[in-house]
Amino acid sequence: MSDDDHDHEHDDPHDHAHDEQQAERRARRRAALAQVRQYGDPVLRMRAGEVDEFDEELARLAERMIGLMHDADGVGLAATQVGVLRRLFVFNDEGDDRVLVNPVLTKVSNRTEVDDEGCLSLGPVRMPVERPAEVTLDGVDQYGEAVHLELDDLSARVVQHELDHLDGKLIIDRTDPESRREAMAQLRPRLILSR
Ligand code: ZN
Repeated sequence: MSDDDHDHEHDDPHDHAHDEQQAERRARRRAALAQVRQYGDPVLRMRAGEVDEFDEELARLAERMIGLMHDADGVGLAATQVGVLRRLFVFNDEGDDRVLVNPVLTKVSNRTEVDDEGCLSLGPVRMPVERPAEVTLDGVDQYGEAVHLELDDLSARVVQHELDHLDGKLIIDRTDPESRREAMAQLRPRLILSR
């Protein structure tokens, strides 16, 4: 999931060191996004398979995904988005990086909330999505150790968004019909240009 709420503006346009830092950050973001599958890629529509081997390769994948998530200014990234069809995602839980393997929602609240979501696979497009406000998530980490999380607010939203990726679902499937039409109008030209 993307996080476009950051404010990258600064006050002094002649602060060259700061400008260079910003330019470097933008370059890192572009390089990271180039490694994230974009809308139209059929892999985003596929269901990821359960992980049954907790080897070095899995730990390296998790490490790489955490790096990509931060470089891309995201708050979550699913393995599907880097072309790996395994049930693994990473997310930033109020400042803490977490790795979830074979995650399952074991409890969801009846209470729902609507908020705008973006996605690192959908460019700048954002749309409102209604989701349960509180969830309990069970799974393991990259080493096979049990993980049990009780989440609300943004973290609850992020894990549901990433879990959707593992099932080939995108926010355009979850938003209201009108927002979906608007999003598709923005996404279609990109699709043609990328061919
Ligand atoms: Zn996403």
